[in-house]
Amino acid sequence: MSELAYPYEAPASQALFDRAAAVTPGGVNSPVRAFRAVGGTPRFMVSGTGPYLTDADGREYVDLVCSWGPMILGHAHPEVIAAVQEAVARGTSFGTPAEGEVALAEAMVERVAPLEEVRLVSSGTEATMSAIRLARGFTRRTKVIKFAGCYHGHVDSLLAAAGSGVATFALPDTPGVTGAQASDTIVLPYNDLEAVHAAFAAHPGEIACVITEASPGNMGVVPPLPGFNQGLKDACAANGALFVSDEVMTGFRTSRAGWYGVEGVVPDLMTFGKVMGGGFPAAAFGGRADVMAHLAPAGPVYQAGTLSGNPVATAAGLAQLRLLDDAAYDTVNAVSERIRSLVTEALAKEGVAHTVQTASNMFSVFFTDRPVRDYEDAKAQESFRYTAFFHSLLSSGVYLPPSSFESWFVSTAHDERAVQRIADALPAAARAAAEATA
Ligand code: PLP
Repeated sequence: MSELAYPYEAPASQALFDRAAAVTPGGVNSPVRAFRAVGGTPRFMVSGTGPYLTDADGREYVDLVCSWGPMILGHAHPEVIAAVQEAVARGTSFGTPAEGEVALAEAMVERVAPLEEVRLVSSGTEATMSAIRLARGFTRRTKVIKFAGCYHGHVDSLLAAAGSGVATFALPDTPGVTGAQASDTIVLPYNDLEAVHAAFAAHPGEIACVITEASPGNMGVVPPLPGFNQGLKDACAANGALFVSDEVMTGFRTSRAGWYGVEGVVPDLMTFGKVMGGGFPAAAFGGRADVMAHLAPAGPVYQAGTLSGNPVATAAGLAQLRLLDDAAYDTVNAVSERIRSLVTEALAKEGVAHTVQTASNMFSVFFTDRPVRDYEDAKAQESFRYTAFFHSLLSSGVYLPPSSFESWFVSTAHDERAVQRIADALPAAARAAAEATA
């Protein structure tokens, strides 16, 4: 569809997008932001308050992306902003240890029992990349199992994705990733324990770790089937491999202790990002103390970062974690449930086949009437209906993820007014989804 297909397009955002395209590949600094999956002009946001974002054209949207997860208290939460202002006034980067990073690590360790030690980094990608390196260094093995549809950041070896054949050696999924990097990655279908057992049997003594999203949100929300994560943990333990649970998205969002808090399966290593940074670039990996002891300077596996444990980022993250008590999670869960039922009601009324899948307060809407258990199921949905649904809601001031393969995120700030705006916008969006053609 051309830009003209969207009469409510935003001229100021379009002008910024044109400027951006002249100096930045595709006009964005992270691909999904470009709206390629849904078409139209990406909105350039100028401010955020509570559940709302305001774009360059002055239009306000109820935000159901929340910066892809981090903004669990809404935008510009006064206490987080105060903590940031106080930290900024003391200096923005020291390149030395500082108390804030100790306090943030302590807060994380206190909440997540399997996290005995933690190392702070600046992005989720760095966290998973470092965890994989550590797993390889600790086990002195090379191969890694990951699952199709799970995203762990743009780590070379983890970008590899392949068909769902058992123990398929992945081909590089993007130019720039070499065959050598990809060939140490085994990509398996999600929720398929038999495939995992077969891969371990096919590669005795070679597999360093299994990495999985604790509960995947990057193919839309596809929670683990009962026993899947425990099965991964047991298979790793039986074969001398480490179980790495990627909680970058779920950590401190799906419960006080993340997905671990929901399911209770104990990983060897975990990765975090998003919520723990309070909207700043902060991420982490951690887990068993005996494994973490292999990390420099305690051990031989090198890992470092100029801005790791940045004082402003750690102040924001700590302020956010301190505000995330049981009542906050009750609020986010209730908002999520409310919006889910409104969506279901609107789509059902128009007879649109759909499946809403949830992982605590994370959820997504698949345009299919079948349960989505893996990436192949997710790809089988009628994504063209999502495009129509998305644009209808956008025109009514509701901002959804610009792709049908993403989780929706809500916050404690999504109050009655914000929910009502969504409720008002849904009937037309459901109609648009019903009338959409491929
Ligand atoms: N792991 C998971 C589960 C994620 O969802 C993401 C990002 O969405 C990452 C890792 C990468 O994090 P970042 O974008 O901070 O590099």
